[in-house]
Amino acid sequence: MEHKVGFIGLGIMGKPMSLNLINAGFSLTVFDLNQESVNAVADAGATPAGSPKEVAEQSDVIITMLPASKHVQQVVLRENGILEGAKEGSVIIDMSSITPDVSRELAEQAAKQGVEMLDAPVSGGEPKAIDGTLAIMVGGKEEVFESVLSVLYGMGKDVTLVGGNGCGVTAKLANQIIVNLNIAAMSEALVLAAKAGIDVEKMYKAIRGGLAGSAVLDAKVPMILDRNFVAGGSIAINMKDIGNVMDTAHDIGVPLPLSSQLLEIFHTLKVDGKINDDHGSIVRYYEKLAQV
Ligand code: NAD
Repeated sequence: MEHKVGFIGLGIMGKPMSLNLINAGFSLTVFDLNQESVNAVADAGATPAGSPKEVAEQSDVIITMLPASKHVQQVVLRENGILEGAKEGSVIIDMSSITPDVSRELAEQAAKQGVEMLDAPVSGGEPKAIDGTLAIMVGGKEEVFESVLSVLYGMGKDVTLVGGNGCGVTAKLANQIIVNLNIAAMSEALVLAAKAGIDVEKMYKAIRGGLAGSAVLDAKVPMILDRNFVAGGSIAINMKDIGNVMDTAHDIGVPLPLSSQLLEIFHTLKVDGKINDDHGSIVRYYEKLAQV
């Protein structure tokens, strides 16, 4: 049976992801608080709904791609939310980056009415959301994961079941440590080179084929060279993620000295008015310190 898919949260990531599902042949019912985003996806063939409840009534797989835990809780649990409309046996796939605690709690609430839930956050940012090549890390039951693989492959290339409920979002928190600390390390290196009088573009060409090369280097250095800090992945969203990393680490007793330093850098960038800029802006923290 081909799935009838619902999609809630048509922002930077959700919009291209939903368009890819339409292109893959799924019939889509969508909802967002932002009417312009709804119109753009409706123009491509989706059916707009008046609430998350209505989306759930029309779908057997309901995807959420929302900013943070509180938005997902609201959309799933509150009045006119998904659980008011979801049929027994339907599957909620939350693809937002939220906390493992909230993710597990939502899966428990859903299970009470026979609704399955997967946490399936993504990595790759807007470019891979547009290309349909996201890395998708999934938490939940294996049989549920397998039942929605065609939907997940409509948006991603590497789709991996990591463990039970909450394991997908936990893997995403770990992913966010690697991505953001990579940007910080890269920023330290670029500012050192620039201050020493090196042409940073030449240095990038010189090092990208060696061990310092990475997807992060290739995504962020060209943006920094162009002084393009339009998000992509905003400081706000990454600060939320690193905050969730620290809370989770605290709960399970894991010290994270570099991640706590990163959170301080994000606070400084927030005060400097850069909260909505891309997290490539970490370089501007180092430039300010070094007076580049
Ligand atoms: P975004 O802010 O661009 O989009 C969020 C969308 O949710 C908006 O269209 C907003 O109107 C909608 N929304 C908010 N509350 C709602 C509600 N109650 N009901 C219906 N719609 C609601 O965010 P984004 O960049 O697309 O990120 C979405 C998620 O993906 C976040 O959890 C983020 O951490 C994660 N993520 C983002 C990136 C990135 O590069 N932007 C990469 C990987 C993962």
